[in-house]
Amino acid sequence: MSTTAAVAEGIPSSRTEPDPARVAKSAPRSHIDGVPVYGWGQAPPYLRTQTQLGEDRLKLAEGQPVLAYIETRKYGDIPLYDPAGAEKMKPLASSVKARMAKRRTCSTCGKVRDRIVHGKKCSVCRDKEHAKQQRLNARTCWDCRKVSERRLPAHHRCGGCRRTQLAKRREAAVAWVEKVIVCSGDGYGSECSTKVVTKKEARAYQKAQGAGRDWWMRAPHWPRRCPSCTEANERQDAEDRAKYQAAYERREKARREADNREQWDAAEYATAAAVVGGTSEGTD
Ligand SMILES: [Zn+2]
Ligand SMILES: [Zn+2]
Ligand SMILES: [Zn+2]
Repeated sequence: MSTTAAVAEGIPSSRTEPDPARVAKSAPRSHIDGVPVYGWGQAPPYLRTQTQLGEDRLKLAEGQPVLAYIETRKYGDIPLYDPAGAEKMKPLASSVKARMAKRRTCSTCGKVRDRIVHGKKCSVCRDKEHAKQQRLNARTCWDCRKVSERRLPAHHRCGGCRRTQLAKRREAAVAWVEKVIVCSGDGYGSECSTKVVTKKEARAYQKAQGAGRDWWMRAPHWPRRCPSCTEANERQDAEDRAKYQAAYERREKARREADNREQWDAAEYATAAAVVGGTSEGTD
């Protein structure tokens, strides 16, 4: 005891380093009534929020000063206190302790956790269950929902469903080729069987898009219609546009006429009113 005291005395005062728990990690961002406001995790570590004091069975003493604040986006500036200045709470009765432990007890694994679980699963059990569900999903066929022994390949299908899927895809591919090689008609209901693309071209286009795809787009560089259907389509479109334009002009004309009539009526009414008003005022 005396030797350590002597050693301690022998150390020059300039050597005494401040307790790191009492030193802020960085300069305060601002001050509120002279009390420093720190960023998250920057305040001296020994300081406690009121909630943290409660966790240590401490409560704020009457008039206990705020020594610092933590700046938070969600909760505003949270005051910090010195735990040494706080009062001790009464020790918990064993029944209360038991009740608190119960609230933190997982319903599945039965372990008492740090967090309150409200009679549900703890986070460890939830994570385990989630992982289990994911493993099950990896073994479940997306089409028939049958669960396989092992995890399924990237197509997520059992053997049978995968074969069906591929067969449908091949069928669709063949049907698509048959469809795109002929003219799609004039667009106004008339059929046409003129060839516009070769099968070879259509298949090459499918192949270029990749075998894994089960959808095909119309190749933008292909003609959709034969020249005569294209011409018929354009003619029909022009006629439709002209008809629409004529109908629009008729409606506009009718509207203008109605407007004019209304204005004329209003003017006539105003004139008549002025005449009546003039005679009655004239008697004054
Ligand atoms: Zn658990
Ligand atoms: Zn299946
Ligand atoms: Zn055609």
